[in-house]
Amino acid sequence: MEEIEERALGLIRRSKGGILQNQLRLELGVDGRRCAHIVRALLDTKSVGRELVTTGGVRVYLIRFAGGVGKYELLIVGAKFDPCVGCIDECDPVRCARLNKWIRELGVSL
Ligand code: SF4
Repeated sequence: MEEIEERALGLIRRSKGGILQNQLRLELGVDGRRCAHIVRALLDTKSVGRELVTTGGVRVYLIRFAGGVGKYELLIVGAKFDPCVGCIDECDPVRCARLNKWIRELGVSL
């Protein structure tokens, strides 16, 4: 799965009740064609479902999360595995550059 597809899936998963495809496009900062391609890829893996809804008199797609959390999904950001897996270094998580870099790539604020 491409990194942008993972970002899209994360946004969709976190949106309660789903996210409109045009809103997803804005959140990802991509054009409509690219967004449609991303959504198609997620539909093909059955990670999301899609339905047509009408909002403000306009028909748009509502994208909902459909998949569960994969076995290793929470351990991977982009193509990078959690650095703690298999690490045998002396551990100080607060100061560990590898762990902190990985957490930053999660896109969460601590
Ligand atoms: S926090 Fe750093 S040192 Fe500790 S297990 Fe994870 S990667 Fe290794």
